[in-house]
Amino acid sequence: MPSVVDDAALQREIGHGDAEAFQTLRERHYESIHAYAASCVSDPQTAHEISQVAFLGLLQVLEARSKTMEPNVGCVRIFLANRVRGEAVRRAVRGNDFLSIPFRQWVDRGCMWPLEDIGQLGAAYSQLTDQQQTLLWHAVVEQDTPRFISDITGIPFIAVSRVISQTRSELFRSRVHLYLDLACPAGCVGAMEEIFAVPEGSSFWNFHLDSCYRCADTQRKFTYWDTLLAEQLPAILLGWWNQEIHRQMKHTATESRQEYPARSGSPTVPSPAARPHHHTSLLLTLVRAVHSFLSRPWT
Ligand SMILES: [Zn+2]
Repeated sequence: MPSVVDDAALQREIGHGDAEAFQTLRERHYESIHAYAASCVSDPQTAHEISQVAFLGLLQVLEARSKTMEPNVGCVRIFLANRVRGEAVRRAVRGNDFLSIPFRQWVDRGCMWPLEDIGQLGAAYSQLTDQQQTLLWHAVVEQDTPRFISDITGIPFIAVSRVISQTRSELFRSRVHLYLDLACPAGCVGAMEEIFAVPEGSSFWNFHLDSCYRCADTQRKFTYWDTLLAEQLPAILLGWWNQEIHRQMKHTATESRQEYPARSGSPTVPSPAARPHHHTSLLLTLVRAVHSFLSRPWT
């Protein structure tokens, strides 16, 4: 049994009624999810509440899915953030004064998802495995540490950088194939395959690029692939995302935790001996535990 359990394994354990697994998952994701909530709404109490709703939603989904299938929801962070955004929008129906100004502007525009050049990226991303999706989200969008990424994905620490690089290339290749399949004449796929065969960072010339604007354009995009991915992926998956506010809120939460460890430490969890044996009562216990934790003032 590894000392650190990855997110997928935790989800299975939660589905089978493990309260400690839920506690671990919650501690892993709370700060970032609260930061996302705080980018949507302007007052901290509402940010708590909608984060709480998201975690309870996750718990209920894992509990329900465990009866019929593997309970995994894929990337936990994306699932929770989607719940947070949905809850903020739902509450705004009764009045939107509590929303942050940029989020309110997004809601007022009709909660528009970005349309430019995203169809292929979304489709290509969805073809990745849950582990690959989680890996890319945390590496590219949230820029978490390799240690943290190793913990949540289960990929050995020593292999994290290599697997990130491979997954990023796989996503790019898949996306370009979708892009080319839609509109390009014969010759493009072969040319792009040659381009992909060249190691990242080295220069490449193919006569096809002189005569094909789309392939030349695609090759140029490859140069800025990381930047594009970091900008487009959250917009595609969540609709609303403000990288700057999110990073700032996350940083503030980390600082507060370090400054006031006693106030934001681990919540009390039911001891193994006190844990109930049946799913229904476990769910109630977990709901109470998460409610108690998330209701506390966030320093
Ligand atoms: Zn071409």
